[in-house]
Amino acid sequence: MTLKNTILRIAVPTPLRRLFDYLPPQGVDIEHLKPGCRIQVPFQTRKLVGILIDVVKKSDVPVAKLKKAHAIIDNTALISNELMRLALWASEYYHYAVGEVLLSVLPKALRQGKTLPALPALVAPLASDLNLALSQEQTQAQQAIIASANTFNVFLLDGVTGSGKTEVYLQAIAHYLVQGMQALILVPEISLTPQTIARVAARFSVPVLAWHSNLSDKVRLHTWFAAANGDAKIIIGTRSAVFIPFKQLGIIIVDEEHDTSFKQQERFKYHGRDVAIMRSKFNAIPIVLGSATPSLESFMNAQNARYTHLNLSTRLGHAQMPHYQLLDMKKQVQVEGLSQALQENIAEHLAQNNQVLIFLNRRGFAPVFYCNECHTILQCERCDARLVYHRSPLRLQCHYCDSVVLVPKQCAQCQSESVCAVGVGTQRLESKLQVLFPDVPIIRLDRDNTKRKGAMQDLLTQMHQAEKAILIGTQMIAKGHHFKNVTLTAIIDVDVGLCSAEFKALEHTAQLILQVGGRAGREHKAGSVLIQTRNPEHKMLKLLLQQGYGHFARQLLCERQMAGLPPYTYCTLVRAESYQLSVMQDFLLKVKTLVSQAGFALQCLGPVTPMLAKKKGLHAQHLILQAQQRPVLQACLKQLVPQIEAIKFNGKFTIDVDPLEF
Ligand code: ADP
Ligand code: ZN
Ligand code: ZN
Repeated sequence: MTLKNTILRIAVPTPLRRLFDYLPPQGVDIEHLKPGCRIQVPFQTRKLVGILIDVVKKSDVPVAKLKKAHAIIDNTALISNELMRLALWASEYYHYAVGEVLLSVLPKALRQGKTLPALPALVAPLASDLNLALSQEQTQAQQAIIASANTFNVFLLDGVTGSGKTEVYLQAIAHYLVQGMQALILVPEISLTPQTIARVAARFSVPVLAWHSNLSDKVRLHTWFAAANGDAKIIIGTRSAVFIPFKQLGIIIVDEEHDTSFKQQERFKYHGRDVAIMRSKFNAIPIVLGSATPSLESFMNAQNARYTHLNLSTRLGHAQMPHYQLLDMKKQVQVEGLSQALQENIAEHLAQNNQVLIFLNRRGFAPVFYCNECHTILQCERCDARLVYHRSPLRLQCHYCDSVVLVPKQCAQCQSESVCAVGVGTQRLESKLQVLFPDVPIIRLDRDNTKRKGAMQDLLTQMHQAEKAILIGTQMIAKGHHFKNVTLTAIIDVDVGLCSAEFKALEHTAQLILQVGGRAGREHKAGSVLIQTRNPEHKMLKLLLQQGYGHFARQLLCERQMAGLPPYTYCTLVRAESYQLSVMQDFLLKVKTLVSQAGFALQCLGPVTPMLAKKKGLHAQHLILQAQQRPVLQACLKQLVPQIEAIKFNGKFTIDVDPLEF
């Protein structure tokens, strides 16, 4: 091939969902045109770093109109074939611009076109822990996983908290390390605690590196290369770690696979677990999805044998399953969200020198600020959301756009001075408990007091060092943590989740109940879980607590099937945002017409107004596309997305494949 007929097909970081053709830079050696290398190109008025995807002979654009690329940055492919294939698949499946996907998987310095840094040598820790002798169920699980070397196979490791899943991961990984292969462990944002890393590093004398958004760009850059060149043997990271290149990946573990933080909710809306499954498939390696409360989609796949279902049915050692009890709030005397029975139970557990954990997923002092005369509730001016009352510092705050307002002395509508904060948030609970239990350390853990670097760790350390103590927290405390002295956990309000219209709300509530409950009685002492509810007769709640998660999940699957909801159908949202409501509605109606004209076997519902219809002044609505078959939905999107892009619209649209909520 002569350079004369050479056209470079390049992914450029723009929201446009296509590749761009360029002529090779002046005087470049054709040998250096390797797909996966970075190239600097002129784009509109800017200079951008793009990725070479392909070298072709023809362009749809006349050659005279093609611009010349500025310069090749890398002599070899920076993005390996393996990573390229995965990123291209993800761009296609999630209908997100290929250039944005490819460049977003690169560490910042590489995105900016900088060259390879000198890498520090990695230190392998001195491992001290010995492998535990596995139980029979653990042995079966581990054997099945290692028998699947170099073969694509999805394992669902389904076991209650404390049943020894982590031990199975570690002993499966050991097998791959011996053969010189690497392992990737994906964990949800919150449970990525130093505890997890310490446990892995204590086991293996190989370099173990972490990956998450709190690390510096420099550290991430080093980790990226250390995985790519094979020096790092184990990477433990949050969802974006699924796009780290590996030299020889042998196994992927997704811990707490049901966790919703694996789905990125903004911009590139991928699901880390699902991308990990595709990666295993492309690489022909096993993947283990671990959970005490599997997502319904994984559970269904295990039921119909697409995944291998591995069960760990009991807690190991001395720990027993906690005892669950419902407190009927219609019958209970209560003050500030705490029922009499709960107060008594807390007192009893503290008297035994034990710790108590209280879950309330509502930060601030009170969720509502209200006028007693005219019943006006204070709303954020930019969002469809109530302002939350905070003390320390005193203010009203919107939890969606973070705007802050002074607390008014009187109502703006009727001038009444009878205004007050209603309902209970973590701050109010904290002050009430301080009054009730003045001698006991009370530790609150939520987004308001963990912003400072290291603050969360300090609070957790206090908790670990205290004898008796009460820990109050939002979902931050639900997962991963192991407090050996907690014997009582309480869920202040389960009703929001039980009564929500969102199709996944009940699934997520059940997972949360068991995760929070699983914090109690993890060692020698027995645990109790108290759940406050106004719906003690709720059929699914009773089923969950009496028969366990498996029965609950099967029943919920039946209901999903009857309602024609995922995982029995496949959904995608076409979401529009605009400052002008009518413009947005017109746009969605045009999209809806396009969908019906295209004639695919699917339903198009909407426009639907989401819960938070206005955020930071932007209105949002969406269409729900729902099909019986995934390929039908994908074919429809593939055909329509370019047409949707072509509609003139003073706003923004996004595609959300496999959405978590409608
Ligand atoms: P999970 O990941 O399911 O929560 P872990 O692997 O953390 O469970 O195990 C829970 C506890 O049981 C840990 O303290 C672990 O050291 C211990 N454990 C796990 N497997 C064994 C085993 N085979 N023998 C004895 N103790 C074990
Ligand atoms: Zn008023
Ligand atoms: Zn707001």
